[in-house]
Order: sequence, then C-alpha cells, then structure tokens
Amino acid sequence: MSAVLLPDSFEALWEAFEAYPQARLFAGGTDLLVHRHTGRAPEGDLIGLERMGELKGVRQEGDFVLIGAATPVTRLMREPLLADAFPVLTSALATIGGPALRNMATLGGNVCTASPAGDSLPALYVLEAEVVLQSRRQQRQLPIREFITGPGRIALQPGEIVSAIRLRRDHGYTVQHFEKVGQRQAHAISIVSLAVCATLASDRTVTAIRCAWGSVGPTIIESDAVQAALFGRRLDEATLADAAKVAMQAVSPIDDIRASAVYRRQLAGNLLYRLLG
Ligand SMILES: Cc1cc2nc3c(=O)[nH]c(=O)nc-3n(C[C@H](O)[C@H](O)[C@H](O)COP(=O)(O)OP(=O)(O)OC[C@H]3O[C@@H](n4cnc5c(N)ncnc54)[C@H](O)[C@@H]3O)c2cc1C
Repeated sequence: MSAVLLPDSFEALWEAFEAYPQARLFAGGTDLLVHRHTGRAPEGDLIGLERMGELKGVRQEGDFVLIGAATPVTRLMREPLLADAFPVLTSALATIGGPALRNMATLGGNVCTASPAGDSLPALYVLEAEVVLQSRRQQRQLPIREFITGPGRIALQPGEIVSAIRLRRDHGYTVQHFEKVGQRQAHAISIVSLAVCATLASDRTVTAIRCAWGSVGPTIIESDAVQAALFGRRLDEATLADAAKVAMQAVSPIDDIRASAVYRRQLAGNLLYRLLG
C-alpha cells in the first residue's frame, strides 16, 4: 500500500524525503492526482505540501516579492501586493480552470507542470520570474526560462522542491496585459495566450517591451524579433501590424483537438492588436 505523507515543516519534509526517496510531491494535486486516477502517472508514495505553512503566502523581501509555491491560486488572486505590482500575473491566474480548481491548484504546481498551456507561465516569463529551489542543504534560484527545459520538463534536482517564485518589484512597466483564448470561459486549456509588459513614453513610444505566448510551441515562446519590431516605435496600428507579422513567424504551433496550427499562428499575431487599448 502506498504512503501519503503530509509534513508541516521543512524538517519533517526532509525526513519524509529520506524515508521515501521515490515518493512524488504534490501540492494542490489537481494535475498529479488526476493523472494518477486516469493511469497517466504511476501509483506510489506521495508527499503533500498542503500543510507546509512556510510555503504559503506572499511577502516582500527587499526589492523582491516572494510568492510561496504552495499558495492556492484563489488566495494569490486576492493578494493586493500582486494586483498592484503584477496585474499581468493576477489576470493570468484568474483564467486557470474554474473556482473550485483554483481553490486547490497552486502556483508552484502550475510552474512545475511545465505545460506549454500553463496559464501563469507567459506572465512569469515577461516578469522575468526566478524560481527558488530549496533542498536540505542549499537554496538556489533559476530564471524561469532556465527552470523549464521542455514540455513537462524542469530542472529540479532530487531532494529539491520549489519553495517560491521571486519577482522584481521595481520593473517600471506602465502596461501589463494578459489574454487567453480558449473554447470556453472556464475549464478550457488555452488555444493561445499572450502576456505583455511594456513601458510607453508620453507619445506612446515603446521604451521597454517583453512578450510571451503560451500554447504555440513546445514551451513558452518569446521572440527578440517581435520585441525589436515594437521597441522604439509608437504603439499604433501600423507598428502592431508589423509586429503581428513577425509574431506569426516566431511561433511554432501544432494542430490538435482544440485548434489548427494555422488558426493559432494567426491568433498569436492578432492578439497583439489588443495593445491598442
Ligand atoms: C479540470 C482541470 C482544468 C485545468 N485547467 C487549467 C487551466 O485552465 N490552466 C492551467 O494552467 N492549468 C490547468 N489545469 C492544470 C492544473 O490544475 C494546474 O497546472 C495547477 O496549477 C497545478 O497545481 P497543483 O498545485 O494542483 O499541482 P500538483 O498536481 O500538486 O502538482 C503538479 C506537478 O508539480 C509538482 N509540484 C507541485 N508543487 C511542487 C513544488 N512546490 N516543488 C516541486 N514540485 C512540485 C508535482 O510533483 C507534480 O509533478 C487544469 C487541471 C484540471 C484537472
């Protein structure tokens, strides 16, 4: 019979790791436990993070905001520190699943699932988030684009957990935007999503820009060429038309049951027009 351990402190967590080295971690369980139920993940021992108070909540630390990896998404959506400084992330979190799922699902779980359709990921890429990794002996940080190494693949070492997501507070962006297109308003895996952070001068000249797309490649897609097409130009229809053409070439979508690659490519470009406001 499989064991389920629910440590309530780091010390208890490290002891659980040592006693059950093959155990899989879960946080909200909305991905892993569903996959086990349907036979897509193997049976075996489990270590749950839901009682780890140290992995929950949002706090400011110097120039950074730290988001506890096991904080449920609903709680993050209500967090003023995030809504004020990172509305692109708050908007993205509000599109994950439906209300019941968001009460269980965590940001750490969304990041570690490393799905190209993971809704928090484009926002975390444009915010240049760092993933804080904790083991018994050390703590290290990795930029999110280095932590996610492929679809469903992450740079997590044995004995490590993601303890937090770290965001720089003084990013200076004046525009933050997120949009997800799915087949329904809730419980819809994205067909395409786009997150943008930008700084505009008073005449709408773009002085800083980051864009990231979900569901149009094996991982989140960022494009220097798109950013170059926007940087230094006024954010108007002509500029966005040029950038949209570049975006359509930058993405590498596939056909699946939700949408064709042709539709996704077009949509990846068209979503940029939302920046007209
Ligand atoms: C019906 C349904 C609808 C969904 N809709 C969406 C959606 O719209 N958008 C979306 O992005 N996702 C969606 N998902 C996927 C899933 O709910 C999310 O990815 C969610 O954020 C996962 O978080 P969790 O805490 O439940 O992860 P879990 O299932 O607990 O864990 C997922 C993976 O991450 C690992 N993990 C979790 N936390 C940590 C940690 N702190 N350190 C190291 N490893 C860790 C686990 O070992 C596991 O491999 C949906 C799932 C279902 C079942």
